[in-house]
Formats: sequence, C-alpha cells, structure tokens
Amino acid sequence: MIRFHNTLGGKVEDFVPLEPGRVGLYTCGPTVYDLPHIGNWRAYVFEDLLKRFLLYRGFKVVHVMNITDVDDKTIRGARAKRVALQDYTKPFIEAFERDRDILAILPADHYPRATAHIPEMVELVKTLLDKGFAYKKDGSIYFAIDKFPAYGRLSRINLDDLRPGTRDDADEYEKESAHDFALWKAPKEGEPFWETEIGPGRPGWHIECSAMSSKYLGKTFDIHCGGVDNIFPHHENEIAQSEAANGVKFVDYWLHCHHLVVDGEKMAKSKGNFYTLTDVLAKGYHRLDVRYMLMSTHYRKQLDFTVAEIEQARTSRGRLGNFLGALKDVVKEGTARQDVSEMIAQARNGFITGLEDDLNISEALASVFDFVTSINNLIAHNSLTKEDAHKCLGFYKSLDTVLAIEPSPIRSAHGPIIAHGRVSATAEILPREIKEMIDARQKARIDRNFVLADKIRQRLLKEGYIIEDTKDDVLWKRVEPSKE
Ligand SMILES: [Zn+2]
Repeated sequence: MIRFHNTLGGKVEDFVPLEPGRVGLYTCGPTVYDLPHIGNWRAYVFEDLLKRFLLYRGFKVVHVMNITDVDDKTIRGARAKRVALQDYTKPFIEAFERDRDILAILPADHYPRATAHIPEMVELVKTLLDKGFAYKKDGSIYFAIDKFPAYGRLSRINLDDLRPGTRDDADEYEKESAHDFALWKAPKEGEPFWETEIGPGRPGWHIECSAMSSKYLGKTFDIHCGGVDNIFPHHENEIAQSEAANGVKFVDYWLHCHHLVVDGEKMAKSKGNFYTLTDVLAKGYHRLDVRYMLMSTHYRKQLDFTVAEIEQARTSRGRLGNFLGALKDVVKEGTARQDVSEMIAQARNGFITGLEDDLNISEALASVFDFVTSINNLIAHNSLTKEDAHKCLGFYKSLDTVLAIEPSPIRSAHGPIIAHGRVSATAEILPREIKEMIDARQKARIDRNFVLADKIRQRLLKEGYIIEDTKDDVLWKRVEPSKE
C-alpha cells in the first residue's frame, strides 16, 4: 500500500486514487520571470520521483504543470526591460524546458499557460460572483474569505489573524496578513490586460491554478504538489476558489516539498549563494549527480546544498556506475544461482517498501546499495555467472526507470540527438566555429567567468550543440538546431 503524508490533515494516509489505476497529478510550475533556481528544481525532482514511482507501480498518471506567464513578477520584469510580456517570458520558458531535460525529469502531459486560459479563469470568477463568494471593488474582483468557512484548513493558520474585509492586490503575502485576495485585477497604466465579460483586467495568480487544474484533471483530482512556501496563501486560495465555485472537494492529497538551503543559509541573490542549474553545472558537476543530490534527501526534510552533499552524490553514483561496469564484464559461464534471484527479490521489495512509505528514498536507496555490496562480493569471488549478471542488469534497469540517474540521451525539445563525442577525440569532425566556441567557453570557465561561459553555452545550444562537462573532458551532443 502506498502511503503519503497529506498536508491537509497533517497525517500519513493510505493512497487511494479516485479511479483505480489512474492518478491525476497537478504540480505548480514555474513563474517565468527569471531562471528557476536550484530550490525550484528540488521540488520538480521530488515531483518527478513521485510520478516515476507511480508509473513504476503501474498507475496511469495524467500530469499537469502550469506555466505562470502573467502575474505581478512577470509584468514587473517585462516593464523593467521595456518588452512585451510574451517576449520577456519566452526565454525563461525555454530555459525551464532545457533544464528539465538536463535533469532527466519526465515532461508533464500538459503545460497550460496562464495567458492561454483567460476565458476559463473569467468563467470561474463569474461563478464565484454569482454564488456570492466574490465582490467587485474599484474594477477589481476579490474573494471574500469570511464567506468560505473552511478557509485556513490546509495551512492551519490562526483564524483570529484573518482579516476579512481588508484586501490586497499582491499575489504573494505573509500568513500574518490573511485577507481577501484578488481574483481579477483592474487594468493599471502600462500593464497588459484583457477585455472580458467581467470587465477589463488580468487574473490574479491563484485563480490560474484553479481554472487550469479543473480543465485538465476535473473538479476533483488526486494529488497536488508544490513547495512548502506554496501552502499559504497560494494553495489555501486555490482550495477556497475551487471548492466555493464547484461545491465539491478540490484535491484529495496535498504533498509539499521542504526548502533547499545553501551551506545552512537561505538562498538569496544578495548573499551570493543563489544558484541556477547552469551555475551548478558550471562548477563541473555531472547533471545526474545534481539530480541524485536533489532526490536523495527525503522531500519533507530541509535539503542543505553543500559541496560535501554533492560530492556524496557523485560518489554514490560512481559506485553504481562501477557496479554496472563490473556486471557487464562478467564472463563466467554456468547456470544461474538461486540466491541471486532471491537477492533481487529482496532488493526490489526493499526499494518498493521504502518508496511506498511516503517516498522514503533513503530506505529505498539503502536496499539498492545492500544489493550492490552482496553482488560485488560474488563478483569478487568469481561466483557470479553471466546469466546472473544479466538478471542483475535487468533489475537495475527497472530501478532506473524510477531513479533516472544513469546517463541516457537528453530528451530534447530541439529534437533527437544525432551525433555526439568527446571534444578531445573528435576535434576534426566539429565545425571550426563550433570548436572555437567550445574552446572559448573552456577558457572562460578556467578564468571562472561563468557568465560568459554560460552565454557561449546558450549560443552553442542555438547552433544545436549541447555541451556537457565531465571530470577530464567535454562531451558534445548534436541535436536539431532550434528553429528561430
Ligand atoms: Zn499553483
């Protein structure tokens, strides 16, 4: 039985989907006003582990992740740069997709964008007005929290602190100031707006997720994920909007991922400890070491991103890589051993039991490493046959459909990988200008000019070259160049 910790109620519960064998999963996606940081990726990797495990256990998963391409932050960013909202958000959407593929995260089934779902949001706001849960004020429309008695149930905020009747237009605010929140915001000078039945304006952030989740998953669905900082006000407001409008339960299971800190401190641009995925990769770490690191701390614990932590991930992945190498080298003839099948069964059982227990990844990985130790022992004594090794490899491959830590071609929005190689060994087949760009990037990296190095990497990607740094060489992969 799979069990999850449900933020709604604060307990670990048996997981029973609405429809046997099928899971509707909604995960709050990026607000595309900047590059996602490593803390965002922690949440997305946790959600990927959850989804991959459900798939491994035979569920059909319908996964929806929104792209917030209109809200306070995106509008502020576009204005500061004096560009149209869509021109401002486009490169951040592309960067999100690229980094998602680099981290071997399975793409969602749907990536609805807020700007493409204005009619659905207007419809929802209309229903809330009709049912008396919302009111108009100075051209904006607000949700009246005192009309919804269950308000605060998810975040368990102190209801004495609620300030019904007071309101604020901001998308984000602190727990201490719970108040009526904006569903629809009146147009402001210099801001994009839509002409709609409920008047001109633009949506608040929270209404986006309520409208888009019900469109793709139905009015009630199984699992909703996000970071702990989404619990209030974002998810609290989503519940209020959806349940008030639809009159049915919104979500059965709420799973929230804890924060990532860097060297024990909250990440902040002002502190200089703020990392994007590109920043971390520029330090020379393998992309899947980063994935392993983000995944291997239980999602409800704070993850401290340190050099020691990523080195640990590198070591663990290295151990698994050596194990696979050793299995492939086994040449001993003979019949399969009974105890190897038993070891596999035991390891599979430990892996599943661990993950079924609210995604206890430490326990799951511990049974994998126990298995590695036992099999390595047999290999060391030359007691493993080729047939045994083959079985072990097959088993490992099935585990990796969940862990996704063995290198495989990067799924790329740019098309399939059509060629690849090591820069040192294939310099002559690379076009001269590409080789020069790679060399310039290497020089920038040596000079620790990571901004320039990343710029060159982006230019290479536009030319259809994905660059990957390893300990002693640079790997390149040729994909279909992007269309623009
Ligand atoms: Zn959301």
